[in-house]
Amino acid sequence: MPQISRRLGSFTDSMIRRMTRIAQSCDAINLAQGFPDFGPPSELINALEKVAREGPHQYEITWGSRKFRKALASKQSKFMGMPIDPETQIVVTCGSTEAMMVAMMTVCNPGDKVIIFSPFYENYGADTILCGAQPIYVPLHPPEFKFDEEELRSAFRQGAKALVLCNPSNPSGKVFTLEELKFIAGLSEEYDTFVITDEVYEHIVFEPYRHVYFASLPGMAERTLCCSSLSKTYSITGWRLGYVISSPYIIDNARKVHDFLTVGAAAPLQKAALAGLTLPDQYYNQLRELYTEKRDIFLKGLEEAGLKYMTPQGAYYVMVDISEFTKGSDLEFCEWLAKEVGIAAVPGSSFFKEDVNHMIRLNFAKKNETLAAAIERLKTLRVKVGRA
Ligand code: GLN
Repeated sequence: MPQISRRLGSFTDSMIRRMTRIAQSCDAINLAQGFPDFGPPSELINALEKVAREGPHQYEITWGSRKFRKALASKQSKFMGMPIDPETQIVVTCGSTEAMMVAMMTVCNPGDKVIIFSPFYENYGADTILCGAQPIYVPLHPPEFKFDEEELRSAFRQGAKALVLCNPSNPSGKVFTLEELKFIAGLSEEYDTFVITDEVYEHIVFEPYRHVYFASLPGMAERTLCCSSLSKTYSITGWRLGYVISSPYIIDNARKVHDFLTVGAAAPLQKAALAGLTLPDQYYNQLRELYTEKRDIFLKGLEEAGLKYMTPQGAYYVMVDISEFTKGSDLEFCEWLAKEVGIAAVPGSSFFKEDVNHMIRLNFAKKNETLAAAIERLKTLRVKVGRA
């Protein structure tokens, strides 16, 4: 037998998606993989019904239907505060998962280095390695998840080709401040580095925090590949609609990568999603309010259950401290939690490059009744672990 690619030896399957399978096998409430257990706005469901009858059912233009790009450009340029040409600055992808891979393959050569903040969403490491590039991890120090300026500078000094910026950040819930973003912008200019952003939680930011699009900072539009998706904003994670927005030169090349990777995102879903992209501004305020309420309900429940956590500023995850329950493997703890308490969580170590084993990630994008049921189960944790 010939040997399979060496690249696959350096990472495992996704722990997030593995925990979903474990949740299913023991009937646990799945607070592991980040997706809502409620449907999209009725406008999208109605549009989907109509599209089923009227089409399209065949391929669209490989980099996205004209109407979808036009609606997306209009919505994003309003929120990002910058002009976006739908004809030259967008490639529509199969979720932001593909968007990130396309972005990375567009700018990286084998052997290049890519800076990734740790903790990080696990795809970034795998994406980098699949490109033949090499990750350089820079810690975001808990509990505030701040980076050390010198540590970041020394990563740039190693000659990085790109930096991955997940903002609002998964799993930490950190929303980068304007000062932090300006510092990153300064370094990316000084060391001539691309910035690949993952901004899928752009509309899930809690008061008083504000999301600043990295591409909107002075001079950054040219070197930023802004990746995002409709998954979180319209509760359609299964539709797999994402995109990259960048300069015409970058997008011209990113379209080639996308064309050969997947040909295109689902045509009927692009059409139906127009109903989301054209929703009024008020929708985004309501979304923020909805998730603020869910966060508050869940954090209060965690307190009642006697659990320690780090308050998220954005996104829909919370990191819970498990150090008083176990000194051992957080994966084993999560397996135990799923079986004995009926709650699936993601072991924190799958997000950290550093040796961090005392945190788990819980997702609160759930119906209030699911959150209530989850809290009831979590309240039994201390007793089950013998720490009541
Ligand atoms: N972004 C989500 C998470 O972190 C889900 C991603 C996925 O599984 N595609 O859980």
